[in-house]
Amino acid sequence: MMKFEHVSLPQRVRFGTGGARENLAAEIEAFGASRVMVIATEGGRELAHTVADGQPVVRWHHEVVMHVPVEVAERAREAAEADRVDALVCIGGGSATGLAKAVALTSGLPIVAVPTTYAGSEATNMWGLTEGARKTTGVDDKVLPRAIVYDAALTVGLPVELSVASGLNALAHCVDSMWAPRADPIDRALAAEGIRALRLGLPQIVKEPAGIEGREYALYGAYLSAHAFASAGSGLHHKICHVLGGMFNLPHAQTHAVVLPHVLAFNAPYADDARRLIAAAFDASDAVEGLRQLREELDAPRALRDLGMPGDGIAAAADAVLAAVPPGNPRPVTRENIAELLSAAWEGNDPR
Ligand code: NAD
Repeated sequence: MMKFEHVSLPQRVRFGTGGARENLAAEIEAFGASRVMVIATEGGRELAHTVADGQPVVRWHHEVVMHVPVEVAERAREAAEADRVDALVCIGGGSATGLAKAVALTSGLPIVAVPTTYAGSEATNMWGLTEGARKTTGVDDKVLPRAIVYDAALTVGLPVELSVASGLNALAHCVDSMWAPRADPIDRALAAEGIRALRLGLPQIVKEPAGIEGREYALYGAYLSAHAFASAGSGLHHKICHVLGGMFNLPHAQTHAVVLPHVLAFNAPYADDARRLIAAAFDASDAVEGLRQLREELDAPRALRDLGMPGDGIAAAADAVLAAVPPGNPRPVTRENIAELLSAAWEGNDPR
């Protein structure tokens, strides 16, 4: 018997290579906005201008820091208020989107997101802020961008290594959406199509970074992954990465890329449906093997120690993960088996 409750978040998606300027203009017109604040990193300044020049921009804001420190959020909020901004446009990766969300959280201003990585934050109503080493996250519909403008041409400059890590971050949203606390059949269908799209797109990006088809598949997969994730919630994989990122200040996408094969191998033997769906999406006979092959093709990052995690941090991390295990995880989690998983990810061993 099939019985579930599914919530889809209200959001318009405009997808079209080369169409960012036109699609952004249409969204700004639809809001009737006349005082726009554009949020983009320093490095993304030029790209932001190519997309938003000609719009009624009253503030170009370039102080963007990963994980949104509260003082950075506060300065952006003050700027938006001082300039009587009536709409936010973020152009960039998850960090630029995250800052726009922080401003929307307190102001209620609408966001149009123009993503240039595969982080997927644009399709979720989740926000994050950090104070010192402590990251706080929450869910609020106010931070959900009203519209997303996807344009693969904006992503061709994303270096291959970052594209791979970011794409595997998206893949992790898909895999975790198979068994996260609110996972339902719609999430699993979206996640399976997301895996298929990323499996097709990411190898093309590695072979031809400036090629459009691979970039389009990756953006499409990233959107599906985040859509599923927003509905399903955080599964074991995301809890582990959240703990590691917070404790050791590790790079976001790369941490996901390293941890994912270990969580898949950990849960797959205890999750028959998920295992079959993931294997089929990889067009492989086995889910774990499908991911292994893809990671090999992509030369994906392998070890937490290469990302700066200290080896003597494994025990404390295992305790913190144990305290955060989401309900309904397919495999019972113990201090021993989670420490074993973390050790293998730290060493960069093939997951068992
Ligand atoms: P990021 O936004 O920090 O970008 C990484 C680097 O890539 C930056 O230096 C950026 O300037 C550069 N970059 C981005 N696009 C580029 C392009 N097209 N060409 C060249 N360089 C480019 O990294 P990210 O992985 O996209 O986002 C990570 C952040 O997003 C984290 O803080 C994470 O917690 C958050 N996140 C939030 C959610 C959510 O639902 N709230 C989901 C995923 C990630």
